[in-house]
Amino acid sequence: MNISEKSVDSHKITEKKAELLYSQAPISNGAVLLIALLYFFFLKNYSELFVPVIWSFMLSIIACYRLFLWYQRRYQRNKTADRYTSEQWIRNYVIATGLAGCAWSSIFLLPYTHYDAPLYAALAMVFFGVTASAVPVLTVSLTAFFCYTAPIIISFIIGIYQLNGFSYLFFTLGAMIYYLMLSLLAVNSNKQIISSIKLTLHNQLLIHQLQQETEERGRLVQERTKQLFKTDKAMVETKQRLQDVITGAELGYWDWNYQTGAYEVNDRWLEILGLTREDINNDVSDWGSRIHPDDRECIMATVEKSIKTNMPYVGDFRMKHRDGHWVWIQGSGSLIKSDKLTDGPLRLCGIHQDISYRKQMEQELEFRARHDYLTGLYNRIELEKECQEEMKRAQRYQRTLSIFLLDIDHFKQINDTYGHLSGDQVLKQFAAFLQQTVRATDYVARYGGEEFVVILPETSLKKAEELAERLRMQTEELNIALKQTTLKITLSIGISSYPEHGKSYEQLLEAADSAMYQAKMNGRNCVRSVAVT
Ligand code: GH3
Ligand code: MG
Ligand code: MG
Repeated sequence: MNISEKSVDSHKITEKKAELLYSQAPISNGAVLLIALLYFFFLKNYSELFVPVIWSFMLSIIACYRLFLWYQRRYQRNKTADRYTSEQWIRNYVIATGLAGCAWSSIFLLPYTHYDAPLYAALAMVFFGVTASAVPVLTVSLTAFFCYTAPIIISFIIGIYQLNGFSYLFFTLGAMIYYLMLSLLAVNSNKQIISSIKLTLHNQLLIHQLQQETEERGRLVQERTKQLFKTDKAMVETKQRLQDVITGAELGYWDWNYQTGAYEVNDRWLEILGLTREDINNDVSDWGSRIHPDDRECIMATVEKSIKTNMPYVGDFRMKHRDGHWVWIQGSGSLIKSDKLTDGPLRLCGIHQDISYRKQMEQELEFRARHDYLTGLYNRIELEKECQEEMKRAQRYQRTLSIFLLDIDHFKQINDTYGHLSGDQVLKQFAAFLQQTVRATDYVARYGGEEFVVILPETSLKKAEELAERLRMQTEELNIALKQTTLKITLSIGISSYPEHGKSYEQLLEAADSAMYQAKMNGRNCVRSVAVT
């Protein structure tokens, strides 16, 4: 792994180095104190007493100073008032280590009273032992290592100068090779330690970053979860509200996949037609097949136009109920989704509303607008309309047309005798009779009170007179049943014909009215027509 200097702060490396030096200080300096004591007792056999005393004292003082530095770092480094930086501490510790190296090296230069094997062995132990122990203890700082070991090797070489030529050369070379090897080991070890420090710091940095990132992610996840929860709640509420609206408005809902023909519906859609899920095959053709044949073409065209223009549609049509009757549906919908590339339709959605009751009301209103409320015959407005249309037709095809104006004789007496409600019954029964008696092509209307008009298309005056006479006689035969009795009625009928007696509706009616008046004058229960002028 290539760890850049940027990623690992050099200050932190120094900190770590100080840490390593610091951690080994108590043991190594404790060992120095112990060895100083041991060597004191050993050296006093080879020299004047003050020599080992000075040497041991010097070594102990320096060891104590280094221990003091350790103590200082341990207890003072976190005191902000006099903050002791790691750089300063390392510098002081390296100086003290150099002094320790000097103190050790002086052992080779001391004036000894005699030389023998134990002394050589002791000096060799100092040389090898102290320099070798410096490798694990000091290589974290190469300066410390060399400050410590260089005086020892130098004074060792000076110290053995008293040996004769070859031995001196041999030991000097041996010591130098040994020192060279030791130095290489130290340099190598130093590299390893520094790179391991960097790695550790880099890892710590990564862990720290990872922790921060994890915390940040955790926070984001929490926020997102909250938002999602809110959105989810809002969506559930909106969906429920929409559902309530659909249910409340009794809307059948459909969803049509234009590509596949799949046609999904809700329960209300089925309910309107008395169907269950098993009755439909979820295909749009199923919808088409249930539409009234008279309405199918029109609604299909409306839907196709809506798709083409991408505009919503509304259309009324009938669909077959399960029990066979026709249900009036108001369908509305629109294209919801188109193919982005081809712009072709993909999905349509819409609703079905059962408008049977509304249609029934509309039809009833329309009927009432055109028919008399009591008898169910055409009313005066419709009479005028139909008469004018028939007159136009007669004119176009050069044909005749006749009308009857018939009035029930002495109707007032019926009201007076049996009451107004019975009078109504008479009017209703006579109206029904009249409708049945005339030809299917004739129009029957209640003109007002107990007066009725019959339009007879393509009928000459002569033919009309025959028909009127027949009607008069049939009316004589008619038995009108009331609660308490059975009645007989008679008619006075006035006839007029187009074009002889008038070319407008009003003229024809006026002519028929005056003919009817003549019938009344003639004693009633008879037919009269206007003389041709
Ligand atoms: P005429 O032979 O001269 O025609 O005598 P009439 O009694 O039939 O004639 P008139 O015009 O004097 O009386 C018509 C009566 O019809 C008067 C009116 O109360 C009654 N009438 C009109 N409309 C209705 C109705 O809707 N229901 C009932 N029960 N009576 C009606
Ligand atoms: Mg009348
Ligand atoms: Mg009358």
